[in-house]
Order: sequence, then C-alpha cells, then structure tokens
Amino acid sequence: MTEPRYPLLSLSRLRMGTDGAGVTTLIAGAGCPLSCRWCINKQLLREGRATPVTAAELVEKLRIDDLYFRATGGGVCFGGGESLLHAPFLRAFRAAAPADWRVTLETSLAVPEESVRLGAENADFFIVDCKDMDPSVYRRYTGGDGALMEANLRLLLRLVGRSRIRVRVPLIPGFNSPEGQAASARALLAMGFSQQELDLFSYVIREDPSHSTESR
Ligand code: SF4
Repeated sequence: MTEPRYPLLSLSRLRMGTDGAGVTTLIAGAGCPLSCRWCINKQLLREGRATPVTAAELVEKLRIDDLYFRATGGGVCFGGGESLLHAPFLRAFRAAAPADWRVTLETSLAVPEESVRLGAENADFFIVDCKDMDPSVYRRYTGGDGALMEANLRLLLRLVGRSRIRVRVPLIPGFNSPEGQAASARALLAMGFSQQELDLFSYVIREDPSHSTESR
C-alpha cells in the first residue's frame, strides 16, 4: 500500500485561541468538495500548488514548536480545504506524532461516513463548519448536500460526544438571515448540543472574497 501524503499548502505557527486549546500550528491543505460562495481560500485550494508530504515529514516540520505544544496543551489543527478528505493521512499522522500533541480538525463533514469514523479515531477535537442546517440554503451556498453533513454530524456526536466538538453557525450575507441562523442553532440544540458548543458569528464580505473576515 502506498504511504498517504498530505497536500500541504502552508503552516501558520504560534496561534492562540482560534484553533483549539493551547499554542497551535494551523496546517492548511488543498482540496475541498464544496464550492462556498464566500470561500476565502478558493485560490489556494487547487491541489497543483500544494507540496505532498508524508506524516513523518510533516511531524519533522512541526517539531520546532514541540515545547510550546507540550507546555500549553496545544498541538496542530488541520484546516481548509477539507481535512477529512485526507483521513488515511490523519491516521498516519496520529501514529507518527508525539502522543501529547493535540490534534484538531476543521471540517465541513462533506465527506463519506467512513472518513468521519477514521477522523473520530485519530483526532482530539473537531471544529465543524455546518454553514446552515436548512438543506436548501446549504445547497445554494455550498453546492453540497446538507443531509450528508447532518447525518455525519449526528454520527460524529455519537462517536466522540459533544465536549469534543464545536459547531460554527455563520450568518451568511445573501444566503441566510438572523432568523435562519437562529433556526440552525435550534436544530443543533435539538440534536443534543448545548449553547456552549455553538459558535454564532457573521461573515463580513469584502469585494475581494479573499479579504473577507468574520465578526462576533
Ligand atoms: S468548506 Fe471551507 S474551504 Fe471548502 S469551499 Fe467552503 S469555505 Fe472554502
């Protein structure tokens, strides 16, 4: 079997308070099954611009911050693109990395069920970008299948429990409304999450989507 490789775009070191507990290195990878209208990473996501790395090679690149990770309970966060497109790589990474590096995945869950199961076995924490719980809004904004995301979110909740998940619930200009955002939050509460696991915020759209931001 060939060794899985991760399409590495960039590393962003010494982050605090955005990608999980402690000092974190954000690992950006190429590839995403969705086409979100306001995606800030579109130009970065093409696989051609990425550098394929093995798990051992990536661990070596990250080791420079080992002391920070251990001292703060931090580690790494695999961010977008879609981290779970690379689920077999994540298993190899978990095996190659020091056991006390915390592994966080940012994911839209727009992936096959099997990838969610593999991710659940090999990561400590999940930041799930649900977009909107209304499948018609989800379809319009992402081009993807909201029913798949919801089924995978229910599965992840069963597999790891709500304390290891944070769900991002955005107000998306031109696609949902404050009422729609509140309806998504209610749907997530009904699913079994509590308010403290939900992160409600707004996309702030600039003319050039790559400069768009978020506000809370
Ligand atoms: S899921 Fe994230 S990376 Fe993928 S298209 Fe949407 S915003 Fe971009």
